[in-house]
Formats: sequence, structure tokens, C-alpha cells
Amino acid sequence: AKKRVAVIFGGRSGEHRVSLNSAASVIGALDKERYEVIPVVITPEGKWFAGVEPAHLLAGEDPEQLGQRVALPADPTYGGLAPVEEGCLKVEQLRPVDVVIPVLHGTFGEDGTVQGLLELANIPYVGAGVMASAAGMDKIMMKTVFARHGLPQVRYCHFLRRDWEREPEAVLDRVEQLGYPVFVKPANLGSSVGISRAKNRDELRRAVELAASYDRKIIAEEALDVREVEVSVLGNDDPMASLPGEIVPLNEFYDYEAKYVEGKSRLVIPARLPAETMLELQRLAIRAFKALDCAGLARVDFFLRRDNGAVLVNEINTIPGFTRTSMYPKLWEATGIPYQDLLDRLIELALERHRDKN
Ligand code: ATP
Ligand code: MG
Ligand code: MG
Ligand code: MG
Repeated sequence: AKKRVAVIFGGRSGEHRVSLNSAASVIGALDKERYEVIPVVITPEGKWFAGVEPAHLLAGEDPEQLGQRVALPADPTYGGLAPVEEGCLKVEQLRPVDVVIPVLHGTFGEDGTVQGLLELANIPYVGAGVMASAAGMDKIMMKTVFARHGLPQVRYCHFLRRDWEREPEAVLDRVEQLGYPVFVKPANLGSSVGISRAKNRDELRRAVELAASYDRKIIAEEALDVREVEVSVLGNDDPMASLPGEIVPLNEFYDYEAKYVEGKSRLVIPARLPAETMLELQRLAIRAFKALDCAGLARVDFFLRRDNGAVLVNEINTIPGFTRTSMYPKLWEATGIPYQDLLDRLIELALERHRDKN
């Protein structure tokens, strides 16, 4: 019998649109001989609809018109616990679903929230569990865990929006200890949304203001002159690492535009690096994956300092971009696992992990 696979995408996130693109590729590639695919969208407001194709949403169509409303135990548009309306599916009625693929980037999807719902419903799902998702999404928590595991990282400091509102000058003074230039980031986001590079106190003010509009937690890092390299990791308790790939952004850094506008950056796969650096990157990627207790997949982003060649871990993404031209699947393709096989493997890993938990 065919496996029933629900692909959940969209989400209440600054990366909603990126997710529609990832999901369109994933749904397009899933082998229809083996899987019955149920697309489920989460709108930017947090409503769930089953039976809506991402391609239709990318074309600007209204999910309310296309799909069937899924009632959630906690639907944010009701401001709390949702009554089950006439004609609504309950989340349990999505069953029997054999496995869920959450293709959600950023808040309320990559951060453990949807994973928690799936744990409660006892449905196997692709990727990291609740704890690893949450810890991986929060750059401050992620860095704390990585530091405890001895992984090399940039110098940084962090503060709350509240600190910024109460004592802005003190916050600026503290960040300036890192030395200019600095990167300022919302603690929980992705796709470089809300991130900027500041070269002086004025730019720093604006950078913090922007980051604080996205998150109540903000992180500032020393901005290094670096090459950027990424490694894909695949597996559960015994994960493997892909060949590293390099990103060459044409913008000042790998910002939103560089990531998603054709021709604004170049991917070099595999990265042109000495064999020992490639090995070091792969080892560090697996250590980072294990440090957070990830599962299924993750993309680990690195910096290679231009001055001394040192390798630093920048961050981990537990649900990396998944279009056919995204780094995560491209690295596996270069390592010998084509896109469609990668999806099969991820589904197997999800089922394996579900068995291990129970
Ligand atoms: P993703 O889309 O990979 O989830 P993100 O929004 O989590 O990205 P980061 O990967 O932390 O953001 O940073 C985005 C980009 O900003 C990096 O790829 C790099 O180009 C630049 N950058 C971030 N931090 C630094 C730093 N400390 N030094 C130099 N460049 C940096
Ligand atoms: Mg990220
Ligand atoms: Mg990300
Ligand atoms: Mg990144």
C-alpha cells in the first residue's frame, strides 16, 4: 500500500514564502507510485488548510477557497483553544498519515512547535525533535550548546529588546566591546531576515532597531572577513556528512536577496578546499548535529577566516531550504544521493526514529 505523507508548509514565519518554494519542490519530487501526498498549508496568520498545493499559493490564490480547514487544538486566530467548526477536519482526522514532512522554515515550524504537536498526536515526522529544533532555532541557545561541546565560534554578545528599550546606550557600549564591524541578528529567524552589518554606532542603532522588531532576543557577533561553507548532514544517531559547498554572495553578505534572487550569489559544489579542511568541516558538522541531538537532517553553516584559515561554526538549520537548487539537496546530489532518493531516505529515518522513541 502507498504510504500517506502529509507535507506541512507555509507557516507563521518571516520565511513563509521560502517554505512555499521548498514545499513545491518536495511535493513535485515525491514518488507518487509509493506515496499518497497530502499537502497542508499553514497561513501567515496560523490557519491550517489541507489539500492546497503550494504552486497555487505561489500564484496568489486564496487557501480558504482551495482547501479544507483543519481545526487545531490551539488555533492562534481564535486567540486560544479552537472550537471545531462545521466542515472542519480535526488534526487527528488527517490520520491515518504515515509520516509528516514539515517543510517549514523559521518561527512556528522549524523551532519545535509543530514538532511538539506531532509528538502529541504520535505521528512520525521528518527531522529534528522538539528540543533540537528549539535549541537550533535560537541562536543564543545554539551557541551556548556549541560552546559547551568545544566547537569553535565567533565572539558574540546578546541582550533583550527590553534592555534595548530601557538602556540603549549601555547596550551599544556592550556591543562595541566586540569591535566594528558587527553583525546584529534576531535570535530566532532565518533567511537573513532582520540581520544587518554595522560599521559604526549609528548603523548599530539601526541594526538593533531592526532586529528588535523581529524578536525579543537579539544577538551581536564580531563580523569577520570570511569565506562561507556549508555541509549537509543526514541520519539519526549515526549521521553522515556531505561534501562541503561554498557560497560566493555578490552582495556585501549572504542576505535575503543574495539567497533568493537568481544570480545574486554563486554556489561552488564541492568547495575548492584542501582535503584536510574538507574532512575537518565534515567532522565539525557531525559534532554540531550530535551536540544538539538532531535527527534526520540539518545543514551546518561555517565560516573560514581569510586571515588565518580558522574554521568556525556559524549556525545550524534543522529545516534547511529544500528547493532543487537549494544547498542542502545539491550537496547530497554531489555526494551521490539524488533529490528523490534523499526524500525516501528522510522518510525512512523519520519512521526509524519514531520506532526508537517508543
Ligand atoms: P539561514 O538562511 O542560513 O538560516 P540565518 O538567517 O540564520 O540564515 P546567518 O546564517 O546567521 O543567518 O547569517 C546570514 C549571513 O550573514 C551569513 O551567511 C553571512 O553571510 C553573514 N554573517 C552572519 N554572521 C556573520 C559574522 N559573524 N561574520 C561574517 N559574516 C556573517
Ligand atoms: Mg539559520
Ligand atoms: Mg534557516
Ligand atoms: Mg545561515
